[in-house]
Amino acid sequence: MTSFLAPDSPSPGDSALEAQIRRAEPCLWINPACTATPEAGAVTALQIDAAVQRFARAQNLLQQVFPALRETGGRIASPLLRASALQQALGLNEDEGQLWTQCDHLLPVAGSVKARGAMHEVLEFAEGLAVAHGLIDAHSDLAPLADAPARALFAQHEIVVGSTGNLGMGVGLIATALGFRARVHMSQDAKAWKKARLRAHGVQVVEHEGDYERAVHAGREAAARDPACHFVDDEQSRSLLLGYSAAAADLQTQLHQAGVRVDAAHPLFVYLPCGVGGAPGGIALGLRERLGAHVHCFFVEPVQSPCMLVQLRAGMAQHPSVYDFGLNNRTEADGLAVPRASLLAAALMRERLAGVYTVTDDALFAHLARAHAAEGLRLEPSAAAGLAGPLRLVRSAAGRAWLAEQGLLSQLPQATHLAWTTGGALLPDAEFAQFLERGEAVIHRQAQGEPHDKH
Ligand SMILES: *Cc1c(COP(=O)(O)O)cnc(C)c1O
Repeated sequence: MTSFLAPDSPSPGDSALEAQIRRAEPCLWINPACTATPEAGAVTALQIDAAVQRFARAQNLLQQVFPALRETGGRIASPLLRASALQQALGLNEDEGQLWTQCDHLLPVAGSVKARGAMHEVLEFAEGLAVAHGLIDAHSDLAPLADAPARALFAQHEIVVGSTGNLGMGVGLIATALGFRARVHMSQDAKAWKKARLRAHGVQVVEHEGDYERAVHAGREAAARDPACHFVDDEQSRSLLLGYSAAAADLQTQLHQAGVRVDAAHPLFVYLPCGVGGAPGGIALGLRERLGAHVHCFFVEPVQSPCMLVQLRAGMAQHPSVYDFGLNNRTEADGLAVPRASLLAAALMRERLAGVYTVTDDALFAHLARAHAAEGLRLEPSAAAGLAGPLRLVRSAAGRAWLAEQGLLSQLPQATHLAWTTGGALLPDAEFAQFLERGEAVIHRQAQGEPHDKH
């Protein structure tokens, strides 16, 4: 088939979409480059398997080091929840599919999806050091990393990261638990309670005036000057991305146990909150690798921070920032407040991601309140973003056009919608109460008939 459009050139209707992006209006972008047969790219299936294996070899170690992981036998895993009451609250009809949530907000240790990536990268670094110093053999069980010789070795090293909050929490808490020193460079939007919690665990917190990018760059530069430092690079790290990708192996087992099929007649739509792109990118990569082309992944971003949307639209020859579109990158979804996407994640998503949609902060808070009322979920604003996905897909003109073109409209009654709830378990009560109050106020205003971003 010949196409007159180069793969990265704008499709018809694209200028209308760009206007929506610039006006910070919620929109849905369908990725024209998504294909059933993507090129392998920078990460191989072998590496994805190796991450799953590393987590398995770490189970004995993690049970010893983290009391919270004793119950799970050292597995970093979260529940898969059939959210029928929330489905009703969202107004998604039964014949439009079934709503489930992957409850990464309950992940132990970090209370967010970051537990997966941070744990993997810190483990890989620790394992490399221990192998290099003859403390363990390569590919062996990691239990000896809890012993005194390994801890003495780790105490001579520092793990550094730049973060808006949750990655710093994950890396800081995990690194110090293994005996490393840890330093977290935080952006201005990082919440005060996150900084306080890290300091209480002996993590050095360095505060920066600027945004996420500034914090990451400051951390990268400081770490580069010190050979005993390992920098966890949220914008470029393959190890982080691979840690996230291991989530797919668990989900596959959980879907099987729940009797949920994924095939041509039973499509799976996954809605993943996106910041820099590493967490959702890793998860989507793993899912496409394990479950194939019948899993359709969508990223969700705040209307003021749609960095992956502008990146994938622009193509890989450019690296645009949301500021270039007149946006301000301000959102209460601190986990998603990123102005420029990871090129590693973007390159992997170019042919694997079905699309990206954006949401207002009001919609995030309303969904946060609905998730609490209907299912008792305790989410942070970033983590509620995925809940806007199902209605956006099945009710919007762009979503329905795509479903029709893919031959999926008639399969909707057997479809599964999976919203990835990415964080919130560690939120202090007072913080969560404020979020709930704001969400309830939004819902109340909407019920009064105020024009709103319904989805
Ligand atoms: C970090 C984070 C995300 C997004 O992950 P990225 O790797 O930045 O794309 C989503 N939700 C929460 C709660 C997060 O902390």
